[in-house]
Amino acid sequence: MRIVFATNNAHKLQEVRQILGERFDVVGLTDIGCHEDIPETADTLEGNALQKARYVKEHYGLDCFADDTGLEVQALGGAPGVHTARYAELFGEGDSHDSNANMQLLLHNLANKTDRHARFRTVIALIYQGEEHLFEGIVEGSILHERHGNEGFGYDPVFEPEGRGCSFAEMSAEDKNAISHRGRATQKLTEFLCNT
Ligand code: IMP
Repeated sequence: MRIVFATNNAHKLQEVRQILGERFDVVGLTDIGCHEDIPETADTLEGNALQKARYVKEHYGLDCFADDTGLEVQALGGAPGVHTARYAELFGEGDSHDSNANMQLLLHNLANKTDRHARFRTVIALIYQGEEHLFEGIVEGSILHERHGNEGFGYDPVFEPEGRGCSFAEMSAEDKNAISHRGRATQKLTEFLCNT
C-alpha cells in the first residue's frame, strides 16, 4: 500500500520505513513532487502534524501522515516543546535546526537545575480514507550534563532514556527505534493501518 509521509528528512523516512516494514510503500514529499516548505504555524504538536497532513491531502489528494516532535523539559515548564527544532534560533543564537546551538542553549538553561526530567513526545496525524487520526508516542528520560555519543541526530547526545544508562546517541538505530517517541507513535500507526 502506497502512503505519503509528509517529510523531506531522509533519516526519518528511513527510520519509519524500517518500522512499517515492506507491507507499505512509504514515499516522501520529494517523491510526489512537493518541494514547498509546508507551513507549521500551530502552537501544539497535534496542530502542526495535522496542518502538514491536511496540506498534502488538499494539494495532492493523497492519503498521508505527518509527524511533529517536541522535547518537553519539566524544569523549563515543558519547553522547548513545539519550538524544539528552532529553540536556539528563537530564544538564543543559532540557525533553525542547528543541533549544537539547540543543545548548548538547553544545557545553559538547565545549568542550575537539579530536576533534569524530560520527555520526547511525537504526534503523528494520519489522513486515511477520508478520516483524520492522531497517534502519540512518548519516551521518558532526563537531560545529561554534557553530550555523550555520536549516533542519531538532534538532541540525542544529551537525552538519556529512563533506565538505559546511556544517551540516545550511544544506542544503535535499532535499539533507539524500539523505545523512542517516534518509534512508539509509528508502532501505533502501523497497528492501525494493519488492522483497517
Ligand atoms: P521534528 O518535528 O521531527 O522535525 O522534530 C523537531 C525537532 O526535535 C528536531 O529538529 C530535533 O531537534 C528534535 N528531535 C526530534 N526527534 C528527535 C530524536 O529522535 N532525537 C533527538 N532529537 C529529536
